[in-house]
Amino acid sequence: MSRLAAVRFSHFLPSLLLLAGGVLAAALPSLSEFFTSLFNVLPTLLLLLGGSFCLVYGRQRELFLLLVLYLGYFLLDIQLDHYRAEGRVRDDAALVFHLCSLLLPLLYGLYAAWQERTHLLQDLVARAAVLLAVGGVALALAQRYPQAVLQWLALIRWPTLHGEWMSLVQLAYPLFLLGFVLLLLQYLRAPRPLHAAQLLGLSGLLWMLPKIFSLPHALNVMSSQVMLMLVAAVAHEAYQMAFRDELTGLPGRRALNERLQRLPRHYVIAMADVDHFKKFNDSHGHDVGDQVLRLVASQLRKVGGGGQAYRYGGEEFTLVFPGRTLDECLPHLEAVRQAVEGYRLQLRDKQQRPRDDRQGRARRGSAAAGEVSVTLSMGVAEREARQGNPEEVIKAADEALYSAKSAGRNCIRSHGQRRGAVRLVRPSP
Ligand code: GH3
Ligand code: MG
Ligand code: MG
Repeated sequence: MSRLAAVRFSHFLPSLLLLAGGVLAAALPSLSEFFTSLFNVLPTLLLLLGGSFCLVYGRQRELFLLLVLYLGYFLLDIQLDHYRAEGRVRDDAALVFHLCSLLLPLLYGLYAAWQERTHLLQDLVARAAVLLAVGGVALALAQRYPQAVLQWLALIRWPTLHGEWMSLVQLAYPLFLLGFVLLLLQYLRAPRPLHAAQLLGLSGLLWMLPKIFSLPHALNVMSSQVMLMLVAAVAHEAYQMAFRDELTGLPGRRALNERLQRLPRHYVIAMADVDHFKKFNDSHGHDVGDQVLRLVASQLRKVGGGGQAYRYGGEEFTLVFPGRTLDECLPHLEAVRQAVEGYRLQLRDKQQRPRDDRQGRARRGSAAAGEVSVTLSMGVAEREARQGNPEEVIKAADEALYSAKSAGRNCIRSHGQRRGAVRLVRPSP
């Protein structure tokens, strides 16, 4: 499956809503007392709650992103408080603001693009060392040579590229651009909610920085929203890990168990099992086996008739049709069975190579050595009045699956159909 096929709008949706909500709230001339107090405590609360969650579950990358965001928020908030209380900015306001405009995109982009290593402690130490080094050097230079640093930051290096709209130091823009490119590539290489949230979080920062002195709530609101995006994405991924099967992307056994608790009075359950899959793995290898499972899952996902597919475990899948009768579901199951039967998986050169001579001879005998295909057997059961819980219906579907296997595989059997009764489906020659 191509990586682009895994790109989902749903990865961006929660962050987009948070970003839009943040822009709207920050653009309001005044916020109610409740929301003002809420956004005053949210960044600290998110750092404490989200940060401890990330620390406990070894999510170093998000932990450091939260830290960087919070540090930026903290430094700029001191300036804003002074500005509000005294009606004028502090002497070091320009220096702090320009440094933050430079270091926020730099550190945010760096930590967001920095993939997590398996060794947690090393990873933590390396990230902390970078933060201390960059932060320490910036602080030392700013304290020792404030004027020189300010001049260096404010210098317009590329006059022809400078636009009137640029309200941050010019150096900040290439850093933001680099960050966007890196994070976009990262999302395209591995499309997942966290990578989408990191990308939109950077847009939130770019929107926020030029407005912190002109819009009174821009800093508090947007810092909170960006931190919330990251924490929400971590929670989203944790939920996916628990409820989605990683290999096939289908909802897994836990999701099935939840669904079974909320079924209407009438429903149909089908159990599908790949035929002779052990043999398939033995002759083509486990990696090709995995590819085939993904392919089967992609066909099962498309089942019509209001059915939802789950990976039950191994090479077994469950299809649930709430509110349907057996007759309504059978044509849809049959369509899936035929789709799997007709699908040919092309093997790449490396995969085509047989593992040993015996397999090679066997393969050379087959019609198309570069193609493989599998078939599915299915057992279906409709809930009957006497069946108290869905587990009994699954058991009945399982029994029907055994009959489908004994009837020669690549066919569908429904519960109650006798052995030797007319097959619903005849495998193609
Ligand atoms: P039958 O037609 O009777 O179902 O035969 P079978 O070989 O498919 O049945 P069996 O249950 O003996 O074998 C299932 C095989 O599925 C065993 C295991 O190697 C394979 N399998 C289970 N999970 C995975 C997986 O995630 N990836 C791969 N590649 N193979 C798997
Ligand atoms: Mg099996
Ligand atoms: Mg099987």
